Amino acid sequence: MFNAAKKLTQSEDPAARSKVAIVDDNGSYTYTQLLDDAHKVRSALRGSASKGSSIAMLMPNGYEYAAVQWGIWAAGGAVVPLSPMHPERELEYFITDSDTRHVICHPSLQANLKPVLGRLGGTVQLLSSDEAMRTSSSCDVEDAEIDENQRALFIYTSGTTGKPKGVVHTHASISAQVGALHEAWKWSTHDRLLHMLPLHHIHGIVVALCGALWAGVTAEMLPSFDADRVMSRLIDGQQNITLMMGVPTMYMRLLRAIDEMPAKRREAARLAVRRLRLTISGSAALPASIFNRWEAATGQKMLERYGMSEIGMALSNSAVDPATRTVGIVGKPLPNVSVRLVDADGTDVTGQPDKPGMIQVKGPNVFREYYGLPEKTAKEFTSDGWFITGDVGARNADGFYYIMGRQSTDIIKSGGFKLSALEIERELLEHTDIVDAAVVGVSSDEWGEAVAAALVLQPGKSLSVDALKPWCYERMARYKAPKAIRIVTTLPRNLMGKLDKKAVKAMFL
Ligand code: ATP
Ligand code: MG
Repeated sequence: MFNAAKKLTQSEDPAARSKVAIVDDNGSYTYTQLLDDAHKVRSALRGSASKGSSIAMLMPNGYEYAAVQWGIWAAGGAVVPLSPMHPERELEYFITDSDTRHVICHPSLQANLKPVLGRLGGTVQLLSSDEAMRTSSSCDVEDAEIDENQRALFIYTSGTTGKPKGVVHTHASISAQVGALHEAWKWSTHDRLLHMLPLHHIHGIVVALCGALWAGVTAEMLPSFDADRVMSRLIDGQQNITLMMGVPTMYMRLLRAIDEMPAKRREAARLAVRRLRLTISGSAALPASIFNRWEAATGQKMLERYGMSEIGMALSNSAVDPATRTVGIVGKPLPNVSVRLVDADGTDVTGQPDKPGMIQVKGPNVFREYYGLPEKTAKEFTSDGWFITGDVGARNADGFYYIMGRQSTDIIKSGGFKLSALEIERELLEHTDIVDAAVVGVSSDEWGEAVAAALVLQPGKSLSVDALKPWCYERMARYKAPKAIRIVTTLPRNLMGKLDKKAVKAMFL
């Protein structure tokens, strides 16, 4: 990945070299400057990084983040991204789990790390990003020789189903992911990305940031997601943004911000978003209500894609044919990515329309290992080399895939049927009084598992199971209607909009 991205800064074309790579609240930075600052970080790391060794970084979102990430790569290390949002306990877990010995940290965030490093008793060295970038000379060492298959990036999974796992990607697997998205989403040098995602997940760091820098475009990086700020940037900004990426909860907040605008401003918002080439959603299932409201408010049909830390992106809707983007559909396999569906007996059911199966993925995009967990890694692959995602999906007669959810928590076995929690959630969100919904299976003597739903309602509304039932019966098979509900003020969602289904289940104990 580093070698490929670096080519931009060494391009024969001076316009490419002097193009702005990143804009943040502190200024604009060209590709040449990015490489130059990365080289300063590389020099500061001299002697600290060996091939593929773990170097953690704790930096705010913005230009310096990218410079440090590239600097670690130039030194030959593997990047372990930490987030200002991680509590101490998690910082400690990521640092120790990844065998990190050096952390590059922005001065403003050193207080987050100090107690952790204190507990680790001097085994981990702290390097200030400011010192690295301001005082080192950039020309005293060469870029490390990079083997495309060495460790390049650790992505800790969300921990939705257990302890976060350190997913290790190589330069080759990141290049494969970014290359496939480049082709499928038709990135061009005319693009301009609005970056508003956390940078310790595959979505923010690889799909968005590496995607933009690989394509040689300008990425405008916000320090964090702020719906009002995103809307003012889109409406009032000087240069047109062409791409934005977010998780469903972000789009929900943007819609709320648009709803609260006076009519004239709302019209300006509609025109501003309609100009974008693509508005992309992923990381969690996109509810129909958000897809539909976004289209009504902005004229944009959102592009939903499916992926995970271990495989990057695997399925995507079409960037060029908006008419094929429909609610609940995540599209077709990306270039060079193979996807198949396998049922419980091990039969490949990919060719059987609407037959659910475990999603399995193969291709150069797939990760190298769960760090330090060789047995776990081996267990997640079939004997013929396919990665077992843990998600169940199906493919319709037109070859488009849809996601039914995680086998472990979203597939509910009720009265002999296998139900998709995601599908029921999508239906419930169509109810005018329901703002957010989480469906789980709870143990039941009568049904094996019974469908239960935690719901967030519109202010001032109330709802009972008995009142909800007739509404459900008109829309879904009777056995899919929730047998129990809990009304809550918020659902346990993490930063990436992922539901903590264990916590939801606990509401019904
Ligand atoms: P852990 O593996 O620790 O439980 P996690 O799986 O939540 O964490 P990620 O790799 O960030 O961590 O998330 C990938 C998961 O997100 C996928 O396996 C899938 O369940 C879900 N997902 C991603 N995109 C979509 C989508 N478009 N529709 C439905 N689910 C999605
Ligand atoms: Mg996972």
